[in-house]
Amino acid sequence: MDEQYDVVVVGSGIGGLVAALTCARSGQSVLVLEAGKQFGGYTNPFARKKFNFDPGLHYIGQCQRGGSFRRLLDRLGLEHVDFAELDPDGFDHYVFPDYDVKNCKGLDRFRDRLAADFPRERRGLDRFFKLIEDVDYTLSNAMKVRSARAGLSMARRLPSVLRWSRASLGDCLDHYFTEPQLKAALAGPVGDLGLPPSRMSAWMHMALLAHYAGGAFVPRGGAGHLRDAFVEALEGHGAMLLRNRRVEQILYDGQQVRGVRTAKGETFGATQVISNASATATYGMVGEDHLPRRLMRKLRNTEYSYGSICIFMGVDGALDTSQIGSTNVWNYDSTDIDALFSEQAMGDYRNIGGYFLTVPTNKDPGGGLAPEGMQTVEIVALCGHEPFASWYGEKSMKRGEDYEALKADIADHFIERAEKHLPGLSDHVVLREVGTPATNVSYTLAPEGSAYGLAHTVDQTPPFRFGARAPLDGLYLCGASVISAGIVACAASGRMAAKYALQDAGTA
Ligand SMILES: Cc1cc2nc3c(=O)[nH]c(=O)nc-3n(C[C@H](O)[C@H](O)[C@H](O)COP(=O)(O)OP(=O)(O)OC[C@H]3O[C@@H](n4cnc5c(N)ncnc54)[C@H](O)[C@@H]3O)c2cc1C
Repeated sequence: MDEQYDVVVVGSGIGGLVAALTCARSGQSVLVLEAGKQFGGYTNPFARKKFNFDPGLHYIGQCQRGGSFRRLLDRLGLEHVDFAELDPDGFDHYVFPDYDVKNCKGLDRFRDRLAADFPRERRGLDRFFKLIEDVDYTLSNAMKVRSARAGLSMARRLPSVLRWSRASLGDCLDHYFTEPQLKAALAGPVGDLGLPPSRMSAWMHMALLAHYAGGAFVPRGGAGHLRDAFVEALEGHGAMLLRNRRVEQILYDGQQVRGVRTAKGETFGATQVISNASATATYGMVGEDHLPRRLMRKLRNTEYSYGSICIFMGVDGALDTSQIGSTNVWNYDSTDIDALFSEQAMGDYRNIGGYFLTVPTNKDPGGGLAPEGMQTVEIVALCGHEPFASWYGEKSMKRGEDYEALKADIADHFIERAEKHLPGLSDHVVLREVGTPATNVSYTLAPEGSAYGLAHTVDQTPPFRFGARAPLDGLYLCGASVISAGIVACAASGRMAAKYALQDAGTA
């Protein structure tokens, strides 16, 4: 071995950073190996002509005082990471041809807003929102029941929660409601986890709605500030972080993990490896010979989420974005979100019937995201990965004329569509850049260019995702394959993986 550590962390997305810092703060010697040129995975920002963009963080929940992400950061000594709150009266705006509604801080308020628009559905709304609360309580506390009172509270909720454990969001909405507009509004943020209602796990969607109950936030100064806080804290605790180090092999001797080998041929010894790579990539690095048959079957059947198209724009200050403010706009061409996100529609960007529009500079005006007097605007849409697959693995900016022409068409198409919400947008764009599933592969090694890792289907909902503790001694997983996609869920998975590692090392 070239060097020996207590723990090697493979990948520096938010899951890997949390895992690494948790171990380093417990006195473990930690090495973080990142394949990319920069640390952070989807929290790594990029800049063009002094405009700064965050590809993988447009809003997160649980940053309010007492919120789970705030508490996690505080426990890791990152009290100084600060957040700006999106409009509490409407952080999301779901817009359909014949209905629109804003989701707001406080699930009760959102419920009452919907009930005012759909009075005949009041009873269903009361029951559905009670279910959201029960699902959230159960998923958040399943591992933590320590008192008889908590056990009783859990037991009271379990029957209704378990009833929907194997249901799709579509089934659940059809059970409680009749109005198509109401069902569509409740499915409004479905793009956050990247599946249409008929395929999305009801549990996962309800957990998503509960996630934003305390409001929505962005890190002040952008996701890069969050990433940098982790990197500085890791260095402060003596951890070693190396970029441009793609791990190719996790060394396992049939009994115990022994370390990793990088593509450059270096070997780093450790009896604990925490992988922030996808589950398929992680187990691929161990090698089939060492994997139990059941795990092999699960890996073969693993399904990844849709990819994403992002249009990042630098815009001059003359464009009036005040009507959008800090709210995210989810524009849908119809209330039939299943049809809009069908496999067929996803195969061609011109047929994609929904997109997300945001003005990051309105969310964090003092964050230095744009030069003085300028603004940033971003559009995100889900898309199939096949149309982009031929460019996977090719270097960014060097994918050739066809790719550049496709990116230009995509930008034109979505910018024209977004004029509905930002009239005159195309005349004010001073810079534009387009990300595709091929970008996700280049910057985060995302399987199939997926935006959200493992698809959030019923069959891939916890406890049927991948465990943070692998069935091989010394190997742990974190990131989107474990609990769910999303910054906060991936961070929680990093904490979980590290805690298992520390327990197993006898240092917890
Ligand atoms: C367009 C888009 C918008 C999004 N918006 C939001 C949002 O608003 N809010 C939100 O909460 N979430 C959002 N997400 C999702 C969120 O960004 C991700 O779910 C989350 O950041 C994933 O974290 P992770 O821990 O899985 O690591 P990732 O960010 O996936 O990073 C994994 C890292 O591991 C590295 N790696 C992989 N394999 C190896 C290897 N073999 N050797 C070394 N390094 C390796 C990769 O290079 C990468 O840096 C968005 C995602 C996308 C694509």
